[in-house]
Amino acid sequence: MFLNDIEITSVAPCIVVPNRIRFRARFSDDITAVLPYLNAVIKNAVYNHEGKVLSMTKDERLITLYPQEVTVAKALSEDDAHETSAWIKELINKTYVDRENTEPIYEKRSRPTPLVIYGWLPQKTGCRRCGEQTCLAFAAQMVNGGKKLEECPVIWEPGNEDLLESLKEMVSVLV
Ligand code: SF4
Repeated sequence: MFLNDIEITSVAPCIVVPNRIRFRARFSDDITAVLPYLNAVIKNAVYNHEGKVLSMTKDERLITLYPQEVTVAKALSEDDAHETSAWIKELINKTYVDRENTEPIYEKRSRPTPLVIYGWLPQKTGCRRCGEQTCLAFAAQMVNGGKKLEECPVIWEPGNEDLLESLKEMVSVLV
């Protein structure tokens, strides 16, 4: 087994969606070597090889993998946090086992769609502090080059750091 254990180290209320949680979990082993293979097998992955960070979604859950830990937003509950952690561990180990049949991808993936960006935004409909009616409209403007991440003040507020890091990676391919 490549990754022996994954341990949840913190749980907090989700800032994006009420009644959901966010959590952080530590890996027992460094997964850096598997990240390019995960980038190849996960269809919605956004990967920065130099920064060693890979973002993806599982249903509505927002998952960001680093060499030694993972952060997840929009998890359903603490039980779901444990199930999602087990799923991530299995995904990493399966990808490692299958690596000889997989062509690793080291560069970033294609441009994110407005819907993908929207999933990682604060989704405070009606806030409009960016000048747009909705977060989805803001995401569409970002893809078209009409808005920049800096123009959503909410995502820069404390507590949104994990979402912000993933969004920065995502939108870096838009410039
Ligand atoms: S400022 Fe941010 S949270 Fe508010 S509507 Fe715009 S994108 Fe959404």
